[in-house]
Amino acid sequence: MSRFAPFAGERIAVAGLGKAGLPAALRLAEWGAEVTCWDDNATGRVAAEAAGLTVADPAQGPFRWDALLLSPGIPHHLPKPHPAAAAAIAAGRPVLCDVDYLYRAVRAAGSTARFVGITGTNGKSTTTALLQHILERGGMAAVAGGNLGPAALSLSILGADGVYVLEMSSYSLERIRNVRFNLGVMLNLSPDHLDRHGDMPGYRTAKAQIFARQQPRDLAVLGMDDDWSRALRGTGPARWRPVSGCTPQPNGIWAEAGLLRDESGPILDLAEAAALPGSHNAQNAAAATACALELGLDRAIIADALRSYPGLPHRQEKVGALRGVAFINDSKATNADSTARALASYPRLIWIAGGTAKEGGIDSLVPFFPRVAEALLIGRDAPLLAATLTAHGVPHRILGTLEAAVPAAAAAAFAGAAPVVLLSPACASWDQFTGYDARGERFRELVAALAQGEGRAA
Ligand code: ADP
Repeated sequence: MSRFAPFAGERIAVAGLGKAGLPAALRLAEWGAEVTCWDDNATGRVAAEAAGLTVADPAQGPFRWDALLLSPGIPHHLPKPHPAAAAAIAAGRPVLCDVDYLYRAVRAAGSTARFVGITGTNGKSTTTALLQHILERGGMAAVAGGNLGPAALSLSILGADGVYVLEMSSYSLERIRNVRFNLGVMLNLSPDHLDRHGDMPGYRTAKAQIFARQQPRDLAVLGMDDDWSRALRGTGPARWRPVSGCTPQPNGIWAEAGLLRDESGPILDLAEAAALPGSHNAQNAAAATACALELGLDRAIIADALRSYPGLPHRQEKVGALRGVAFINDSKATNADSTARALASYPRLIWIAGGTAKEGGIDSLVPFFPRVAEALLIGRDAPLLAATLTAHGVPHRILGTLEAAVPAAAAAAFAGAAPVVLLSPACASWDQFTGYDARGERFRELVAALAQGEGRAA
């Protein structure tokens, strides 16, 4: 039997050997490509060499590869192209992401497995995990990957009945050339990552790639709850299915008065989907449902799966309950828009926020300030957030670290200030943590330590 080698004869430089890069390099080599790897960090280079891969800096000398597979975290344009990307671009070679190669490999294997791409400023991971859960519950061979879960090139080649559910960030979307998503999902669009995309039109152009190359028999699922996203309607030839967390949508799926429904009637009372609180999650549920219906599942199976969805860590995750106070870990909220969703879910709360602020800081959160009994601020941009809170008369303290903020928040809540302590930073975490997940884990540990101090489990 001949070896599966869809990339035989292709020379590929892989730069960035992290969670996705190293498995990608190994897979591409296994599938016949001539691969050269690079990482600015020696640890990545050592790991690649130990795995038997060729290591060389693609920015040195003429760029002799057919393409550059660049890790999503490394810029190829703004704020400043990485030297490897600059070299590839100068040589007229494409800068690609791993999903593009996965797609080519699956099609080269003759498989008609369907590709679902899910993007949006917020809700990508939730919708990806939710759809995979629904499809699995419906007995389908569905795998999730991309930004969430295993790297795209760690996934196996599925047969014709398979479904790839891929979380697509704007960083990966601007690096696809071949992928045609049989189902493309755009949840919502609000200002984010503008350092990489320049401005909102640039960001939207990257995101709109989710519908690029679609054909009339494909499906474009579009979130209708914001102007930027709504404006994408009709930009491709695919069938459009509008979805909303709050407004009826002709020919779409939407939530209304707590019910998820379409034109033929209710699908589920969302109160039964405990891990999907709020109208933002109703939007995610509507989008996942639109995909699951398109993929052939029936309404009762979808409703059951929405009920049993367990949720993802760090997204409005309840990590403890002490003396009647709920501790909510929403560390994944790295921008004001996602924090707005969490603030909208609790009538009265102690709010822990801060880190590296995004453009606009927390100005857009002013309508929620009456809910905030007190804000406790951490991280680099605490003074910036404090200025907004002061301007609106919101009680607050700058405490600097989570270690200081969690016990202070608990003390205030136990004294009766509010029944909820919410970590929803509205900021990136890089100034103090290795990522939002490390920040969320630290919060979980600090809540557990409080519980231990009280002599019980959180
Ligand atoms: P992403 O993968 O796009 O960052 P997640 O599913 O991880 O999104 O959710 C991150 C945070 O974004 C959640 O904690 C929640 O506050 C908010 N969020 C989730 N879904 C939505 C949505 N559909 N619209 C707006 N905000 C959302």
